[in-house]
Amino acid sequence: MRVCIVGTGYVGLVTGVCLATKGHDVTCVDHDPAIVVSLNEGRPHIFEEGLPELLTLARATGRFTATADLESGLDGAKIAMIAVGTPFVNGVVDLSYVRGAARDIGAYIGKTDRHICVVMKSTVLPCTTDTVVREEIEVASGKRFPAFGLGMNPEFLREGNAIVDFMGPDRIVLGYEDSATLDCLEALYAPWAVDKIRMRTRSAELLKYSNNALLACQISAINEIANLAAAIGGIDIMDVVKGLHLDKRWNPILPNGKRAEPEILTYLIPGCGFGGSCFPKDVQALRAQGEQLGLPMRLLNAVLEINDAQPEQVVAILHEELHGLGGRNILVLGLAFKPGTDDVRESASLKIVKRLLSHGCKVSVHDPVAAHNFHRALGPVADAVTFLDDWKSHIDQAEVVILATKWPEYQQIAKSNLSGKTLFDGRRTLTPNAVGGAKYLAIGRRAV
Ligand code: NAD
Repeated sequence: MRVCIVGTGYVGLVTGVCLATKGHDVTCVDHDPAIVVSLNEGRPHIFEEGLPELLTLARATGRFTATADLESGLDGAKIAMIAVGTPFVNGVVDLSYVRGAARDIGAYIGKTDRHICVVMKSTVLPCTTDTVVREEIEVASGKRFPAFGLGMNPEFLREGNAIVDFMGPDRIVLGYEDSATLDCLEALYAPWAVDKIRMRTRSAELLKYSNNALLACQISAINEIANLAAAIGGIDIMDVVKGLHLDKRWNPILPNGKRAEPEILTYLIPGCGFGGSCFPKDVQALRAQGEQLGLPMRLLNAVLEINDAQPEQVVAILHEELHGLGGRNILVLGLAFKPGTDDVRESASLKIVKRLLSHGCKVSVHDPVAAHNFHRALGPVADAVTFLDDWKSHIDQAEVVILATKWPEYQQIAKSNLSGKTLFDGRRTLTPNAVGGAKYLAIGRRAV
């Protein structure tokens, strides 16, 4: 099937490349010409494990191309997927990119006799596809739905795992407003033998937000308990967590006596909070929609409040344990919001570094792939930060090392000579006695 994807970022590109390798003819459209040039030279503009190889494969089959010209992208396409950003700005979801893409697709629909199904891949609040998107297309095309199709196919991939997630999803949600679009989505995902659920677009939209909101709830819940453990003293929250992880309702015992060890348990490990381009904005957006409808949204309020304060927890514990932070030489390891990506949107490290600077610390930072994006996101204060290519040779100069992203290479810190230094394990990836010589501090644990 010929597919046009509008918006070629973390979601659009992975979707396009994966669909192409499954046998569809894909054109990815982006209005940033630099992205288009880079992709047509075989270089992804984002960091994602396995993406360069898959892009090469997709291009070799002749089934993948990128363009800045929407009309040529839509030429012959049966389905147009919108995968543009939906940031949360000033208390509302900024739908300007979605509206713009819908209008441009609508203008094309107005000029063609072919039936095109427009499917939302972007995360949008319930009622967006069947009202906002529909109206934009109707106005721009001069045609009334169902002269074109409408669908919503939420994306659940996780950056850092995006290819694996897209190629082997746990379920595919086929949201539709008309049977032609449902048929189109069925054909698109025919190569995937997984659970497929069909529902109206509003349900599909809410499902995506509920998914992220519930995971965010888990993270904030364990973080609140971890902060309590630290305040009580004499408790390491990881002892508590180990016990929680053995509750068979979280971690079923299999017939062979082993544990299932479901991934959901990783959301029950305390840390410096959730970040990224999805959880913070999606929880805020859902809360805003509820409040607009007159609901108090107490739970999501608490989830966000706890999360906002969590990076500060790192700085507060260090401040207390070291009796002040002014002038201290601090090395922050990990800038991406999670390992496996160069995405720093809403990264905890952004807040931590800014707070450390405001305390007058000398801050050095490292990340295997996200330093460039971090520098840009920090803005003018970036000049006050030292960006390192090699963190290991800098350990000697640091008084404090903060482990803020769980990149596997930082496990090697346990082999460094840390005597006389303080190590803050912001992701609880190390065990206290594995870091010889250092004063070990962490979320959910006071120094002993
Ligand atoms: P992104 O910012 O990485 O990419 C969006 C791209 O769209 C940009 O390259 C931009 O240049 C392009 N664009 C914007 N308007 C355009 C237009 N009119 N025509 C052509 N190109 C246009 O965003 P992303 O992280 O890929 O997220 C896209 C959507 O997917 C969002 O709604 C997000 O919430 C959702 N989502 C993201 C993830 C994730 O992990 N990043 C996971 C699931 C869902």
